[in-house]
Amino acid sequence: MCGFIGIISQSPVAYDLFTGMLTLQHRGQSSSGMLTFDGDELILRKHTGLVSEGFNSKNLKELHGNIGIGHVRYPTIGSDPVRDAQPFVTYSPYGIGMAHNGNLVNYQEVKSLLFNKYQRRLRSNCDVEAIMKVFSVELFKQVHDEGFSPERLFNATKNTMNLLNGGYSCVTLIAGKGLVGFRDPYAIRPMIFGKRVKDGKTSYAFASESVVLDILGFEVIKDLEPGEVVFIDNDMNVHSKVVEKKQAKHCMFEWVYFARPDSVIEKRGVYEARVNLGKELAKLWKEKNRDKKIDVVIPVPDTSRIAALSFAKELGIPYSEALIKNRYSWRTFIMPTQEQRETAVRLKLNPVILEIKGKNVALIDDSIVRGTTSKRIVDMVRKAGAKEIHFLSTSPPIKFPCYYAIDFADKRELIASDKDIEEIRKTIGADSLIYQSVDGLKKAIGLDDSLCTACLTGNYPTKISDEQRARLAHERDSERKSWRKK
Ligand code: SF4
Repeated sequence: MCGFIGIISQSPVAYDLFTGMLTLQHRGQSSSGMLTFDGDELILRKHTGLVSEGFNSKNLKELHGNIGIGHVRYPTIGSDPVRDAQPFVTYSPYGIGMAHNGNLVNYQEVKSLLFNKYQRRLRSNCDVEAIMKVFSVELFKQVHDEGFSPERLFNATKNTMNLLNGGYSCVTLIAGKGLVGFRDPYAIRPMIFGKRVKDGKTSYAFASESVVLDILGFEVIKDLEPGEVVFIDNDMNVHSKVVEKKQAKHCMFEWVYFARPDSVIEKRGVYEARVNLGKELAKLWKEKNRDKKIDVVIPVPDTSRIAALSFAKELGIPYSEALIKNRYSWRTFIMPTQEQRETAVRLKLNPVILEIKGKNVALIDDSIVRGTTSKRIVDMVRKAGAKEIHFLSTSPPIKFPCYYAIDFADKRELIASDKDIEEIRKTIGADSLIYQSVDGLKKAIGLDDSLCTACLTGNYPTKISDEQRARLAHERDSERKSWRKK
């Protein structure tokens, strides 16, 4: 998972890109980067760490130009935060820059194709570089005889998509031509498109989440459709085409965990979905734990707050913010190694003992991935004097790896891959454990067949061979080890 923004405008874009990147910081903190084109030169800056650590008023002034792309990175493949930071640039044809949110299942096959067929070597382990190079090869094939046109760009993007297997939303700057956004044929990762007219000047933007458009004063035009390419030329004409469409499979985790609650994805508000997740959990509580009494509902901050409040309201039980978060620590799930995640749990949460002592507590969290964080939180609440701890997860059990840009590509990491609910309850030390149902999740989001739920059901939208699964699990494992060494 990463966050991106791309803007083409009739005025300089660097400050808007910076604001957009800050808005998307929750989607990745490993590195940040910005690329602009000033009509003559492509200007690229990449830094490790947070957006505010890498960019300042001085270097933003150097990022000239009315077109640019920005990125915040969360590493899923590629273990070097400097080398693998986005955007990437290639200088032929025209000069192309690309940033994305996504993951290729067939990264190694694409890498081999680029080298064996086109003698092109990659300088990073980041899959957007592979996508960009394939795109540049395909664009060159289309334009080298007859020149550039939107239709040839669409052909190049279609041919690119036909070589890729995975979930990806890409924003692409083509120097001297315009800005392109495209989304994989299943639209697994989010991508929204908007327009702003301010002081008589028009701008268009692509972003990972609608909240970026809100904050920058853009009106939403649309979420890109599965397999759609949108191209805005330098005269601000918009061209679009669906080049390779399949049944949509939007990642359900965006609503459950990743996206900001003030974002709207596929016309479904993230806030509303989380309210509904709480209501669905309340229904399950009534069915399964009718005889048990809860004194207080406590969210594990931040993502589960909205669902916890809605759960408490639905059951008429007091709600308390009894786990206090250190707002200056990172999300534990987003940190790349288990060791870092464990230290971060201790750093980030502290209980309010008076709100917990002697009470029966319902703890609401968005998910249980590895189980280690949940166990630590249950231990902490128990030590704070809770009588009973009932744990509820707004997501159903995560039993299968994700190969589309979420950080669990190895089945062995997932507590629900080989344990049933009772075994998980015992492992995390709770008195009862309730998971959201898959139907409840679909109902809460308001989408059914167009949701990806592969990590819950094992039904992946794209074909993934056993060899690819083993390779991706191995890569993830090696990456963890390399992060540990750093
Ligand atoms: S497998 Fe799960 S986390 Fe991955 S894209 Fe699908 S729903 Fe999202």
